[in-house]
Amino acid sequence: MFSLTRYLLRKGDAARDARDWPAAQRAYSRALRLNPSLAYIWVQYGHALSETDNYLMQPLRLERVQHKLEEILRTFPGKVHVSVPVTTRNRDEAGAIRDWFMERGARLVVFDPISSRCAEDRTLFGSLALNPHPIRCSPVIMDDLIVDCDGQVLICCLDFRRVEGIGSLATHSFADILVGVHRETTRKLLAENCHEELATCRSCYADLRGEFVPACN
Ligand code: SF4
Repeated sequence: MFSLTRYLLRKGDAARDARDWPAAQRAYSRALRLNPSLAYIWVQYGHALSETDNYLMQPLRLERVQHKLEEILRTFPGKVHVSVPVTTRNRDEAGAIRDWFMERGARLVVFDPISSRCAEDRTLFGSLALNPHPIRCSPVIMDDLIVDCDGQVLICCLDFRRVEGIGSLATHSFADILVGVHRETTRKLLAENCHEELATCRSCYADLRGEFVPACN
């Protein structure tokens, strides 16, 4: 065994013992690329992988959704387009992820950059993002409006906290909202590059499609 492999396995074991599953996954993955014949490490790697996924995808759990993915791929052979968010945790596995879906009949696997989704606390995003930049949309986005299930109208689908509403269909007509002062004011702020004045936009960061995000097949 190469000494680098030994080092990576020790690193993976230490991370596993500390229940730092993403770090364990990364270390085991690198060790396996150097030495794929380490059967017992594949088991450790699989465990770290599912723990990482369960952490990032709460409340979903990998064992609950994986058979659904396989069922969808079986039911719609050659028709399923797959979008995979690329992060520090899975970038090295992009090829294997693509192969997994394509072998099961997916039509296309696309790798997408991740967004902070306007979260105020970007700690988790910061640990996952590859090379994040502030996103600064042009006022053209105001031509599309997002209508939530209770009628609240938002400027952006990333506004999960619903802090930048421009009206509600429960209290105003759609025509009133279209010509309303909130929509016009927001459009002006975006045109003048004053994104910092919008609670959503000032906390909006994302990786960009480019050298860090693998091309689709
Ligand atoms: S929050 Fe603002 S900058 Fe981010 S995507 Fe939405 S409109 Fe664009």
